[in-house]
Amino acid sequence: MCPRGARLIAGEGGLLGSARLVCHCLLVEGAEGLVLVDTGFGLADTRNPRQLGIPFTTVVRPRADSAETAISQIRELGFEPRDVRNIVTTHLDLDHAGGLPDFPDAEVHLLGSELDAAMHPGWRERPRYVAAHWAHGPRWARHEAGGDEWFGFESVRILPGSDAEILLIPLRGHTLGHTGVAIKRADRWLLHCGDAYFHRGEVETPAHCPAGLRAFQALNQVDGEARRQNSERLRELAHQHADEVELICSHDARTLDRFLEAGADQM
Ligand SMILES: [Zn+2]
Repeated sequence: MCPRGARLIAGEGGLLGSARLVCHCLLVEGAEGLVLVDTGFGLADTRNPRQLGIPFTTVVRPRADSAETAISQIRELGFEPRDVRNIVTTHLDLDHAGGLPDFPDAEVHLLGSELDAAMHPGWRERPRYVAAHWAHGPRWARHEAGGDEWFGFESVRILPGSDAEILLIPLRGHTLGHTGVAIKRADRWLLHCGDAYFHRGEVETPAHCPAGLRAFQALNQVDGEARRQNSERLRELAHQHADEVELICSHDARTLDRFLEAGADQM
């Protein structure tokens, strides 16, 4: 996504230059198939960006490049789209759920509160969800918040029979049912925070974020108090458990670049 105002959004570049925001998805290879965490934009979005809404495409300026979709990149890795048995979504905003129709057989895991919010949005929330993204009738797997505890956060384990240890970490605020996704790796956890924060500086100590990006988040939040509290808790988690947990968010391009340079195996 290439919105105008690079300096205000990314903290670097010209005032009128284009910022670069990414949709950072994860692919987890487990014994029972692939798990895709978030789906970004899908093929249909790249063919018909207008389904995302004129205000969104005008301001956020997504690049309609089919090679960047999850399905294209998964094929590039040598897998078939049907190998993706499970999808986990941080939330159903149009820039996270666009790829759902590209994997019609996958079971889609999310918090029940997000599914309810997306299926029955109020007028204010309507533009953020695109019904075409679930017109194929996904197999939803609703999960309810609560249950276990993970570094002081509520957590819900999904795919309990799987060798991949994947937890939903509810992080309400950006949307009603927004959740982080924690994935156990060999010796550390990777926490995909979705849109709980937008800029890597927000979970550094002291926290910092470019002004334009801060304003954008405030405009797009459903519960500002909850969002700010969760962002602060994530900063504390990153600070106190740096050796056990690594945090990423959806839209920070520098973070994605760092992982790509290190290579997927080092992730
Ligand atoms: Zn987003």
